[in-house]
Amino acid sequence: LLSSETSQGLHVIHIAAEMAPVAKVGGLGDVVSGLGKALQKKGHLVEIVLPKYDCMEYDRVCNLRAPLYWEIFVHKGLNSARICFTCHNFEYQGTAAASELDSCGLVSQNLNKSDKMQDNSARDRVNSVKGGIVFSNIVTTVSPTYAQEVRTAEGGHGLHSTLSSHSRKFVGILNGIDTDAWNPATDAFLPVQYNATDLQGKVENKQALRRKLGLSSADIRRPLVACITRLVPQKGVHLIRHAIYLTFELGGQFVLLGSSPVPHIQKEFEGIANHFQNHDHVRLILKYDESLSHAIYAASDMFIIPSIFEPCGLTQMISMRYGAIPIVRKTGGLNDSVFDVDDDTIPSQFRNGFTFVNPDEQGLNGALVRALNLFKNNPERWKQLVQKDMNIDFSWETSSAEYEDLYLKSVARAKAAKRA
Ligand code: ADP
Repeated sequence: LLSSETSQGLHVIHIAAEMAPVAKVGGLGDVVSGLGKALQKKGHLVEIVLPKYDCMEYDRVCNLRAPLYWEIFVHKGLNSARICFTCHNFEYQGTAAASELDSCGLVSQNLNKSDKMQDNSARDRVNSVKGGIVFSNIVTTVSPTYAQEVRTAEGGHGLHSTLSSHSRKFVGILNGIDTDAWNPATDAFLPVQYNATDLQGKVENKQALRRKLGLSSADIRRPLVACITRLVPQKGVHLIRHAIYLTFELGGQFVLLGSSPVPHIQKEFEGIANHFQNHDHVRLILKYDESLSHAIYAASDMFIIPSIFEPCGLTQMISMRYGAIPIVRKTGGLNDSVFDVDDDTIPSQFRNGFTFVNPDEQGLNGALVRALNLFKNNPERWKQLVQKDMNIDFSWETSSAEYEDLYLKSVARAKAAKRA
């Protein structure tokens, strides 16, 4: 984060592993481009530094030249920059043998210490995420509930003591979604566009997806439940598997779009996909497919996210914007964005989905059965819920203002320190 002598706004540099649409495997890619665009709209200069991946979509990048720190950033004043470390998931920590620091020109002896980069459990290893926490001026993560959870021994992935001792500079800000890229009224990936006041288009998307995937279209009212996810343990894969069978038993249709970097999970789901290969009501598509993901959000009535932990989660926000009601486990950002329709402790205007607490089959059953019953028994109330969810503001407007505020305060503190 820099402030420039010549321009009013901040100069914000995001250093990230993903950016949609050129390099995306999950929500990090959405966040980096969504937050960057929102800050740009507020008048700040935003630059994003990415690895130059072989698989990048180079035809979508103009004037490519991925810049050297010493040649470019130092001349722009980075030597007086403030650093904000935003962690999207504390599960991925990038530990390495301490000696590897020396090959980057750093002195491992100085940094492999418990109050610096030393991993909290392996003394001969350094931990880049811990280093990020220790050496940044501000640390943020992607939802207020997750920021609480990672300060506990159960949720902290070994970093809870580090996060607790740096808690004064640590805050959780809920992600938004890029509402231009995710807009059912203009989405070019959809066969038919629609909006909250004209839901006929949503029905047509449902029929189109059923035809495309070879699912039965006989009963237009048969509920369609979807899940789009990386198939990793964090996402509650055993509960996703359970939801497939339960939905079908309860008279619904289920579509899963997902792929797994974990060979035994990928293999297990390939087995389930084969089992349902020509089935009328269940389809598993085990790959990454951006255009199909849009078609599924638009077609589905419900969207399931039974995560064991979820730093923020974007699919619940995207599904609501497309009128698919989320069924989620109350954890992390899901707890900050989905509120149960039957929870009397929540003001009724905020209630927008179905939630459950225990990460087991009974927990999921309760929420899924309630959702399917409401869909079947009270179509008018269901329609009102769909319209309400589609109108919720999940844009970056509020969250980017929180980031902006943090950045500005940090730069102001730096300037004050320089003057003193
Ligand atoms: P995470 O970052 O943990 O993967 P998020 O919910 O934050 O989870 O973001 C997931 C993003 O990745 C969403 O935009 C979702 O639509 C997309 N996504 C996940 N799996 C697939 C897939 N198989 N095909 C297309 N898009 C996917």
